[in-house]
Amino acid sequence: MSRKTLVFLLAAPAACLLAVSPLSPSEEALLKSISADSLKGHVSFLSSDLLEGRDTPSRGLDIAAEYIATRFRALGLEPAGGDGYFQTANFATVIQPMDSFEMTIKLGGKDMAIPKDKANVNTQRAAEVKDAALFKLDLDAVDTLTPEQIEGKAVVWTMPENLFSMADDDRANFMRKAAHARTVLAKLKPALVLTTGFGGGMSGVRLRELADGGSTPPPGVFVRDQDAARMLGDLPAGPAAGSVTARIPAPEETPVKLKNVVALLRGEDLVLKDTYILLTAHYDHIGTRTSGDGDRINNGANDDASGTASVLEIAAAFAKAPQRPKRSIVFMTYFGEEKGLYGSRYYGKHPIFPLQKTIANLNLEQMGRTDDTEGSTEGKLTASGFNYTTLGEVLTASGKLTGITTWFHEKNNDAFFGRSDNQSLADAGVPAVTLAAAWIFPDYHRPGDEWNKLDYANMEKLDKTVALTLWRVANDPAPPKWIESNPKTAKYVKAYQALHAVEQ
Ligand SMILES: [Zn+2]
Repeated sequence: MSRKTLVFLLAAPAACLLAVSPLSPSEEALLKSISADSLKGHVSFLSSDLLEGRDTPSRGLDIAAEYIATRFRALGLEPAGGDGYFQTANFATVIQPMDSFEMTIKLGGKDMAIPKDKANVNTQRAAEVKDAALFKLDLDAVDTLTPEQIEGKAVVWTMPENLFSMADDDRANFMRKAAHARTVLAKLKPALVLTTGFGGGMSGVRLRELADGGSTPPPGVFVRDQDAARMLGDLPAGPAAGSVTARIPAPEETPVKLKNVVALLRGEDLVLKDTYILLTAHYDHIGTRTSGDGDRINNGANDDASGTASVLEIAAAFAKAPQRPKRSIVFMTYFGEEKGLYGSRYYGKHPIFPLQKTIANLNLEQMGRTDDTEGSTEGKLTASGFNYTTLGEVLTASGKLTGITTWFHEKNNDAFFGRSDNQSLADAGVPAVTLAAAWIFPDYHRPGDEWNKLDYANMEKLDKTVALTLWRVANDPAPPKWIESNPKTAKYVKAYQALHAVEQ
């Protein structure tokens, strides 16, 4: 993609001249405070062993949140979370006991007992299900279902056997259909939703937002038993001559307060100051390993103390700059990304600034490591969904002035679009991408992701490129757009249109 962009710029002399013009005095002034040492200071604290890998929830995560808020306060940025710099979210941690779990599927004259270790339960309440009739779901026809067909039934659907070897788009498409089915089923009151699949199961502590106003979903059981998966997989869609009896134990829930950390720099243009650009990163990581010799702390220096430090450093540059941008800039760090984009999903559901007025989201991940498994990425910056939005062009033009080239990985850039918090804003229609130095690095999600392995001189240049991009987007009266000619943006273009429909 970087090559294509270059061809585009060469073929357009006017754009080319603009792109190579030197930095304006206000741009020079903005960028000059961004420093490698300052970044190193932030990353080394956030990824220190003391913070124990910043799991969601944990004391280490709360200390990180307090650190970020303290930095915002020191910069004189406006607190924008509702509770000072904190946007506090009420969640529960959920542990699912399995000791009293029982399940038997009757089908084709056979009784199949599902052992505890072959099932994962996801429920908000205990349930006793007695001889509930089986109903096989067609994921393409969920919108035609009626309450009469579904109420009290054991609804079953199967994950394709090749789910993890599918093309990324096909898998994403399947996951979307599955998520839609869950939403529809929550209203149709089945006794139980049974999913079968062939992969490994999820385990450990889950998170659930409390009092989110939605209807309580039916108890769900994911069955990893091969025989059951095959038998149920072979059933045609519709009512089946079989039944399910199950005892589902209640989950153990503990309320917990989680925090996004949010600061505002108000723009100076009378009209554009009421529009917003989000600069974001997740400040959580995956905590510590429960077993193993030696170091068990997953420090998460590159993932994503580097993005968090970059948000702080760029916020400082804007706070200290003699001139303000026209649009307002929101600096925000999220909890719970590693457990499934929880902080950014929460923000998408409870936006502090109107989403209609939020014109872009630059999300930062993995800004420090240049030792990509496929070779060095020193001097390079990339964005997930590079050719999904017009932000890619601004990034490339900014890089020409800061000595950074943009690069595009044929497979990874699109595949990583859904793997970070930009997805939550993109789903709402906001042009949103994740910027990174490299996609895949050796210590990913391991105790070896430590602060002394990051290239801070390079990170300084990347952050200057991000700051310049942010500045230019913030001063451009024309907001960034989804690129409609790219078929992969269809869903986001639709969301964008829905978001802006009310404005007429
Ligand atoms: Zn990350």
